[in-house]
Amino acid sequence: MADFKTHLLGAALVSGLAATVVVMSGQYSQQAVIGYFTLGVIGGLLPDIDSPTSIPIRIAFAALSVIAGFLVAFTFGKHYSLLELIALWTGCFLIIRYGLLNLFTWLTTHRGLIHSIPAGVGFGLATTVLVFHAFGGSAMDAWLCGLFITLGFIVHLLLDEWYSVNLYGKKLLKKSFGTAFCLGSLKQPLGTVALYLTVIGLLLCCPSPRPVALMADRTQNVLAQRLWPGAAWFQGFLRRVTPASLTNQ
Ligand SMILES: [Zn+2]
Repeated sequence: MADFKTHLLGAALVSGLAATVVVMSGQYSQQAVIGYFTLGVIGGLLPDIDSPTSIPIRIAFAALSVIAGFLVAFTFGKHYSLLELIALWTGCFLIIRYGLLNLFTWLTTHRGLIHSIPAGVGFGLATTVLVFHAFGGSAMDAWLCGLFITLGFIVHLLLDEWYSVNLYGKKLLKKSFGTAFCLGSLKQPLGTVALYLTVIGLLLCCPSPRPVALMADRTQNVLAQRLWPGAAWFQGFLRRVTPASLTNQ
């Protein structure tokens, strides 16, 4: 198993590369591309969220509890006194940070169903559905958000698999090889069926993937033209990085 830092770095590298390709297609704002990149990194941390000692899950629940507290304060802000709001906020924080987190770690076993390919696809599709329906994003934007989550997720599974081959001896290799990159769990047949049904359900809620196919086509063209440098490497680079006033003299 790869550790937290390796996963963070691996997801950042691959998402960075994918985000660069998106930049080259020249159709997306800087903020959008930074958003996709961030989602890719988050996707790379998602598979281990069912680990009780997982750093990202602790951060996620802490953030969620604070955000929920804010939402409560915004919703009831006009109607209650400061002390009442503080009581509501504290209650909200404690329920999520301790109640929900404990329930979550009790319900999930590490390297169970969440650490699998269909879960990665499901997380991506859920993101697409959420961005499209809840945040009013365009179909293209929603799909890109989902794709980056799944991309980061798959990178994580591959890294775990790769590390189980490289870092451990043969004994451990037998035990953990193939467990990271899996399609489901025979030990949890009902859970596996439920997971696949969820993925199908999410797919039905997604917007049409047509814009993605068009974009893939376009990106392929751009890459075919611009993968390799032209006549020379970094042609005109010096001119581009020196201030205009100097070159004009
Ligand atoms: Zn993992």
